Amino acid sequence: KTNNFDVVVVGSGGGGFSAAIEAKEAGKKVAIIEKMPTVGGNTLISGGEMNAPGNWVQKKLKIKGDSVKSYYQDTMKGGDNLGDPKMVHILANNALGSAKWLRDDIHVNFIKDQLFQFGGHSYKRALIPVGHTGQELVTKLDKKATALKIPIYTNTKAKSLIKQNGRIVGVKARYQGKKNVTFKAKNAVILTTGGFGSNVKMRTKYNQEYDKRYKSTDTAGTQGDGIVMAQNVGAKLTNMKYIQTYPIANPKTGMISLLADTRFDGAILVNQEGNRFVEELERRDVISKAILKQTGGYTYQIWNDKIDGISKTKAAHKAEYNELIKEGLLYKADSIDELAKDFKIDPAALKATIKKVNRYAKTGKDKDFHHRAGLVSLAKGPYYIEKAVPSVHHTMGGLVINEKTEVLNQHGKAIPGLYAAGELTGVIQGSNRLGGNAIADIITFGWIAGQTTGKLK
Ligand code: ADP
Repeated sequence: KTNNFDVVVVGSGGGGFSAAIEAKEAGKKVAIIEKMPTVGGNTLISGGEMNAPGNWVQKKLKIKGDSVKSYYQDTMKGGDNLGDPKMVHILANNALGSAKWLRDDIHVNFIKDQLFQFGGHSYKRALIPVGHTGQELVTKLDKKATALKIPIYTNTKAKSLIKQNGRIVGVKARYQGKKNVTFKAKNAVILTTGGFGSNVKMRTKYNQEYDKRYKSTDTAGTQGDGIVMAQNVGAKLTNMKYIQTYPIANPKTGMISLLADTRFDGAILVNQEGNRFVEELERRDVISKAILKQTGGYTYQIWNDKIDGISKTKAAHKAEYNELIKEGLLYKADSIDELAKDFKIDPAALKATIKKVNRYAKTGKDKDFHHRAGLVSLAKGPYYIEKAVPSVHHTMGGLVINEKTEVLNQHGKAIPGLYAAGELTGVIQGSNRLGGNAIADIITFGWIAGQTTGKLK
């Protein structure tokens, strides 16, 4: 069966929806194809937070001094300057615009008086969708796509790109693993298939460290399909060996712990011996590596009700909270003695650690690890302690795209008809992606891909 469209978008995460909506609003006949039975990809199960310098919540909270330049610098530095400066500039310049687009055109509900300051950022600049997950984003994007009558072909897996006279003119796909379907694209194919964090074979092909010892926070569909399809038509890859682990994940399932977002508001990390060992707002790679060096290769995260009162993650992530308690990975306790006992930590050592934290909270100076936001007093319970390990979370590498989101070949030339946006591109995050930068990246470049292809004749 053959379906004819102007623009064919492969993958229905945040990148795909943004591209499809913009191309459709520009008047194109657009389709989205999605291999899974449901839409949303990793965007759906992410925290959904999005960095935007100079945003409206910063104004409301009277957070001063943030700028496009500061965001650009943090992002470049966070990735060891391996991102493409020109592309990171585009991200920094457009992140606020695409956040406003989400707010005003897609009607995404962002929390009005709370922001996250993820590791590596100089300011609290990450907008938080209600519910603290990507569900709010995907629900609203899906709603908009439905209103615009964009057909979404689920259970339909793109297998290869169709090339004719040097131009990409469509996609060969399979429906439910049984039926071949061809999607012709008059103007463009936009690849938005996400990264390859769930593909152990592909991970170890590019970096032997990330073998099956590591679980992944990603959805099963995160297999690198788009990267391979583009590579088969001559696309260039970059930064493929940079694979990010999320430091605080469930030791049994590998799932990201969003409950543990209390880390951004003062929760501390200690090892089995009851000692802190890293600055809690360090980059993800630094924290992950530090955790793996500790006894058993795990960490405990500790916070109290005062910190939860700032983060409000217990209310936002009730299901996760209950699940962790059930699995014996999280305990609530009234005293530090009790807290220590739950995981057989030496109570005297843990008490000494927390006493120091309380002192540093008072003076504003963390003499041991220089906590950049300043520690918060843990003098008062009730307390929470959660066991966690690093888990593969984001693949920084991927396709090389230019400012129009055209996919480039080995010689730096655009492959006609082929565009890409989102985690499968490799030009933004360098060696390490900062928190809140995935959503900023996928929405901004999905948006640009939709606008660019929307203008094609
Ligand atoms: P991004 O954050 O870059 O938008 P996501 O992981 O959120 O990426 O979304 C990618 C989507 O693409 C997922 O829903 C995934 O199932 C889908 N996908 C991956 N490979 C294919 C493929 N070969 N054909 C169709 N859809 C795909």
